[in-house]
Amino acid sequence: MKIGVLASQGAFAEHIAVLEKLHTEAVPVRLPGDLAGVDGLIIPGGESTTISRLMDAYDLMGEIPARVKKGLPLFGTCAGMILMAKEVTGNGAKSLGLMDIKVRRNAFGRQVDSFETALVIPALGEIPFPAVFIRAPIIEQCQDGVTVLAELPDGTAVAARQGKLLVTAFHPELTEDPRLHQYFLDICSGKV
Ligand code: GLN
Repeated sequence: MKIGVLASQGAFAEHIAVLEKLHTEAVPVRLPGDLAGVDGLIIPGGESTTISRLMDAYDLMGEIPARVKKGLPLFGTCAGMILMAKEVTGNGAKSLGLMDIKVRRNAFGRQVDSFETALVIPALGEIPFPAVFIRAPIIEQCQDGVTVLAELPDGTAVAARQGKLLVTAFHPELTEDPRLHQYFLDICSGKV
């Protein structure tokens, strides 16, 4: 299996390192041609407006949705989640508009712009996941067909899945726990 990691801007090197730890071939994606032969694509965290502008400049804005329509699995983390959402509050950036979720950018405000919390994600088992939030978005609304995978104690949705589309508001690539990447690989191989 070969997984592409969008390498326009942001935490792409960390995602590649986790995939390699899981003995999976990982390739940086900067141009449409880099998507050839990939079985899944990760859109990392970073600055969604910058990533969006670079995707536009390198003709990925049309190419990625075209491939998703043909079944390419996507995993968006933080800014990646913003870029996959059909609806975004507080955003000037152009989104790929692929997932039936409404997302709010920078939802935690300046007081608590970054934090780590042990998050229960039933799809991964009983052991909580160390979730790192950095100027993170939240999922405000989900349409039919979207499954919420994790919520903060106050009920805020921070991870979800719709078919082969997976999103987290936090950064799983910044922890030592590879379970979410493994879960995405299982989506790519059709195991889950
Ligand atoms: N605040 C960033 C944005 O709106 C996302 C932050 C992140 O990806 N860590 O794009």
